[in-house]
Amino acid sequence: MEDVIALLPDHVANQIAAGEVVQRPASVVKELLENAIDAKAARIQLIIKEAGKQLIQVVDDGMGMSATDARLAFERHATSKIKQSDDLFALHTKGFRGEALASIAAVAQVEMHTKRQEDELATKIKIGGGEIKSQELLVAPVGTSMSVSNLFFNVPARRNFLKSNTVELRHIIDEFHRVAIAHPDISFSMLQGSTELFDLPAANLRRRLTHIFGVKLDDKLVPVEEQTTVSGIRGFVMKPEAAKRSRGMQFFFVNNRFVKSSFLHHAIMTAYEGLLHDGCYPGYFLFFELEPHTIDINIHPTKTEVKFENEQSLFAILRSSVKHSLGMFQVAPTLDFERDPNLDVSYAKVEQSVQSPKIEVDRDFNPFQEKTTHSFSSKISPQWESLYQEIGSTESTTISLLGAMDTPPANVSQKIFQLMNRYLVSSTGAALLLIDQERAHERVLYELFLSNITHSSTSSQQLLFPIQIELNAMQKALYTEYVSLLTEVGFRLGDLKDDHVEVVGIPSICSENKAIKVFENLFETLANEHPEDSFSQTDLVAKSLARTLSIKRGKHLEIEEQQQLINDLFACKETQLSPFNRQIFISLSKEELEKKFN
Ligand code: ADP
Ligand code: MG
Repeated sequence: MEDVIALLPDHVANQIAAGEVVQRPASVVKELLENAIDAKAARIQLIIKEAGKQLIQVVDDGMGMSATDARLAFERHATSKIKQSDDLFALHTKGFRGEALASIAAVAQVEMHTKRQEDELATKIKIGGGEIKSQELLVAPVGTSMSVSNLFFNVPARRNFLKSNTVELRHIIDEFHRVAIAHPDISFSMLQGSTELFDLPAANLRRRLTHIFGVKLDDKLVPVEEQTTVSGIRGFVMKPEAAKRSRGMQFFFVNNRFVKSSFLHHAIMTAYEGLLHDGCYPGYFLFFELEPHTIDINIHPTKTEVKFENEQSLFAILRSSVKHSLGMFQVAPTLDFERDPNLDVSYAKVEQSVQSPKIEVDRDFNPFQEKTTHSFSSKISPQWESLYQEIGSTESTTISLLGAMDTPPANVSQKIFQLMNRYLVSSTGAALLLIDQERAHERVLYELFLSNITHSSTSSQQLLFPIQIELNAMQKALYTEYVSLLTEVGFRLGDLKDDHVEVVGIPSICSENKAIKVFENLFETLANEHPEDSFSQTDLVAKSLARTLSIKRGKHLEIEEQQQLINDLFACKETQLSPFNRQIFISLSKEELEKKFN
């Protein structure tokens, strides 16, 4: 019998390798951005079309490549970043495997322009499906532009596997954020088609974060800074009262590389112990500096997971420095180095005077106390503002509950009263019912919004004075994604202008003074969750609206309102659980009652 083993041709090997490196457009974005950073670029521009399915282009002003290197760059295991295996343990660059460009070029059509400072002309290379199509000289600025078109054009199975544009764009934005946060000294911009989603000038970390997530974030950041023999930690954690029910804004970087680590996450959670509502997560942006030889970042092909040599001590250091910062912030809220280093005491000095760091806790500090500041940055016309106050002051007496559903509950008795401004007490048959008013109303509103969206039967009310809502870059990106869904729930919106949008109509169920809050919460939920399909998007929007607009605990309800709420609840498809899976009511049967009086 003949020998049967043959070496795979390069383009086949590259296509196989591509399966690991290139999972979706966002993976290409990550590799290209990292290459630009390794090339010491000061400005990096990302251009996306069709959520990266049509085009991903990264333009940098870095060091460029010679004509020979330009060609070599697309060979497998071709890298300028390591020369010998020892270098693997002293990595200071993002890339090192020399696989990315070869893999990308195996599954897409790539055009690269690159020029070094010392060269007269730039090199232009076209390569598609792993084959070099052309190489020419051209006039171009110093740096590299890499255009990746029609990703997976030759691997239909992979192409069909890609998710909707919304989902793929989310992944791209996530990668973009991770890289941009890790490198605030580099200026970044991102364009989707001709819309600019982000324009981030070179800045310090704090500024970079507010440019990305909006100025509102500024007040919520608590600086963390700790230098030990094992590691350096710096960055920010978010104040406990800014904690969210969804995980978003959680960023760990090890030697400036974004990593996921449930173990480090856990260390942070323990530092917040006792400060968070159940089910809430704190945000953080933390940078670990470790000796490269004490970590292994190569255990995962896409390199977001990491193994540490000194796990236990890192856990302890992280936990105590976050705790320390949260404690410090409560006694010295203005202490922050990026704000004005001349006025503040340096961290080192504070440490010396405190010897072993103690956590000082302000006993009166209540992280759950809601700030009354009107935080969603909105431009409100003066007339609107006075109207807003008027409505605000009368709100307590005129709450409109759902009038739409008038199906009477089968057998809920007419005798109802409100207990502690929180529960409705009623009875059904021979059982006593104790209903949580907030959860009940959440359920009612949730089902109403769901059915309105699915039947496109939302009614909308015109605003007397349109509200201008300012959107940050993130919100702008989301806005274009969700505008049709927002319309379906009853918002009437003008065009996106620069950085704001005009709201001319709101869902009828929403009182005018809640409109801004509704928007704020909606964007927040959409930014933090990553709904993968239209069903979960609808669900998320309905939940967010239900949570924002529901009657809260502590709210006095008139008898008619109590009755209406109970009627509405028992007309729902689901009556036991709130949209957030919490028990809506408890019932005590005759037998249970009798037992208690036994
Ligand atoms: P790696 O980054 O792991 O070295 P890549 O396949 O991503 O592998 O890139 C191969 C080589 O191409 C890099 O080592 C670098 O020398 C060169 N290169 C890639 N992108 C750029 C860029 N934007 N500017 C300059 N050189 C680049
Ligand atoms: Mg690379």
